[in-house]
Amino acid sequence: MTYDIIVIGGGIVGLATAWKIKEKHPQLSLALLEKENQLSLHQTGHNSGVIHSGIYYKPGSLKALNCIRGYQMLLAFCEQHGVPYELCGKIIVATAPEEIPQLEKILDRGQQNGLTGLKRLSQEALKEYEPHVQGLEGIFVPQTGIINYKTVAEKYADLIRQKEGLIMLGEKVIDIQDNSGISRVITTHRQYDTRLVVNCAGLYSDKIARLTQQKLNVRIIPFRGEYYEIKKDRQYLVKNLIYPVPDPNFPFLGVHFTRMIQGGVEAGPNAVLAFQREGYSKSHVNMGELMEILAWPGFQKVARKYWKTGMGEMYRSFSKAAFTKALQRLIPDIREEDLLPGGAGVRAQACDREGGLLDDFMILEEEKAVHVCNAPSPAATSSLAIGETLAQLAWQRFQQKKKPFPMNER
Ligand SMILES: Cc1cc2nc3c(=O)[nH]c(=O)nc-3n(C[C@H](O)[C@H](O)[C@H](O)COP(=O)(O)OP(=O)(O)OC[C@H]3O[C@@H](n4cnc5c(N)ncnc54)[C@H](O)[C@@H]3O)c2cc1C
Repeated sequence: MTYDIIVIGGGIVGLATAWKIKEKHPQLSLALLEKENQLSLHQTGHNSGVIHSGIYYKPGSLKALNCIRGYQMLLAFCEQHGVPYELCGKIIVATAPEEIPQLEKILDRGQQNGLTGLKRLSQEALKEYEPHVQGLEGIFVPQTGIINYKTVAEKYADLIRQKEGLIMLGEKVIDIQDNSGISRVITTHRQYDTRLVVNCAGLYSDKIARLTQQKLNVRIIPFRGEYYEIKKDRQYLVKNLIYPVPDPNFPFLGVHFTRMIQGGVEAGPNAVLAFQREGYSKSHVNMGELMEILAWPGFQKVARKYWKTGMGEMYRSFSKAAFTKALQRLIPDIREEDLLPGGAGVRAQACDREGGLLDDFMILEEEKAVHVCNAPSPAATSSLAIGETLAQLAWQRFQQKKKPFPMNER
């Protein structure tokens, strides 16, 4: 058969997209192809489990719009389907005078993004929220919450199946061929014909995009984020979520403390270059993938621009003492022996040829394909909003059939 839509990737973005397509347009036939033998094995299954409020993102950007809308949609979804979550709030803490202008900028952005109830906290007021924190000033963000995104993704999958969407596991896409107006998606086992491909392949989204778009101007650079777990008898040091003021030039939030919905407290993640796209530990090295990263002109520029930050992150990755020191800026009482080895996740961060780490989400449209080329954090929070946008883009194709779509970036 020829499917109306093939979604590539069974992470939270692919699943939310497939669900939104089947929810709004159940008449469209859809199959989702996932290379692993289970869903959500990569970014979706290895993240911090935070429901982001949208405070950090540039007003009007896709991250800001989708995070704020996705946040509301996610909470409504969880209420409707009984997925546990908790809105515990978080604090962002400035620990040096030079961080205060950036803290003010974040507060301003949050207000521009429509967040209400944000509170500026003095040194003393910080202690009311987190008694063990030491900082100069801070912000309390009441909207932030915690959740397990694997549970959310599983729920999306149940709903897709209920609407007769097909989810195929162990189906690694290796090629997409044009077959007189229809796309032929080739996997390691078989082939699927479709009118529209929606690429949500996360860490491999650029590879999939290049199957239909040779001139793709971005590559995915994998940044590993490593965590420690706080020992049970020291978890009292953290009540909820404690974040530093992020470096405005680096697209990551800095190591922080996160109380998890399933229990426990994590510290991290840092951000180090992974030597393979799914490189969850220092010893995971894929020479072919590493060479591709190093050869990308944009990465070379990033390396020159951020070498100092990058070396610091690398050092903290190898030295537990240095990692602890970064955490002690927020909680001076935390000790090296309080930290147990935790897991790691790898972020798919797009980098353009000119050396920009893309700050915003990026969706690339072609006539017979839509590619999600950059969906890092807060894409889990935003998944339903991104999914709805992709469902609308897909639906337009079926309404305006045959009208050619120019290359278009969103
Ligand atoms: C350390 C870390 C912490 C984070 N913390 C948060 C947070 O607290 N809150 C938040 O909102 N976001 C967070 N994020 C970001 C969030 O997890 C991601 O933005 C989101 O999970 C992206 O979902 P995805 O579906 O695009 O990617 P993925 O979950 O990676 O899914 C992509 C899927 O595509 C499949 N695939 C790849 N290639 C192929 C192929 N050739 N054929 C078939 N299938 C293929 C993969 O196997 C994978 O299952 C974090 C991310 C990381 C790494």
